[in-house]
Parts: sequence; structure tokens; C-alpha cells
Amino acid sequence: MSQPKPVLCRYYYADYHRGRATEECRLIKRNPDSRPWNRSLCDTCPVPDILLHTNCKEIALEATVVKKWGVLERVEVYAICAKHFIELEDPMYCPLCAEE
Ligand code: SF4
Repeated sequence: MSQPKPVLCRYYYADYHRGRATEECRLIKRNPDSRPWNRSLCDTCPVPDILLHTNCKEIALEATVVKKWGVLERVEVYAICAKHFIELEDPMYCPLCAEE
């Protein structure tokens, strides 16, 4: 049986201690407007890549599970630079952090 890919994300939480089977996304959990999270969303979620490659020094993210074409669920991200208080059109790039 194949194992699911490990989730390398700071927002992923899992607890299997003493028979527990808890998994959650602590980013999506904060968003009451999101559809519910499930583990398979991590496989296509852009958040780990954004955190790894953004030039923004103080990125703040909000993530929402949305349904695309009425069937496919995916994670959409809204990003701001908390240092310069601007919305980031591209979460990978903050123009004001780039100027510094
Ligand atoms: S859904 Fe995205 S943000 Fe949430 S734990 Fe998975 S990879 Fe991380």
C-alpha cells in the first residue's frame, strides 16, 4: 500500500500518539469562510512553495478551500506584506521588500 506524500508545511499538524488520528491545516482552520480541509489538498497547495520562495520578509497568508468547476477543490491564497501593509498580487513577490 502506498503511503501519502509527507507534508512539508509549517501549518500542517498531525497527532497519531496513543491511537489518535488528528490531522489539520492550522492556516485553513483560522479561516471560518473556508470549505473544510482534507489532507489531499496539501498535494496541490501553493503555500509551502510560497513560504520557500517569496521575497517578502513578513508575508502573512490567508488560505481558503474553494471548489473549481463545481468539483475540484483547491487552496486559494490571499497574501499581504505585514512589513509594508500592502496586498501582494503575486505572493512570491513584494515590490517594496525588493526595493530594500
Ligand atoms: S493545505 Fe496547504 S497550508 Fe494547509 S497544511 Fe496543507 S500544504 Fe500547508
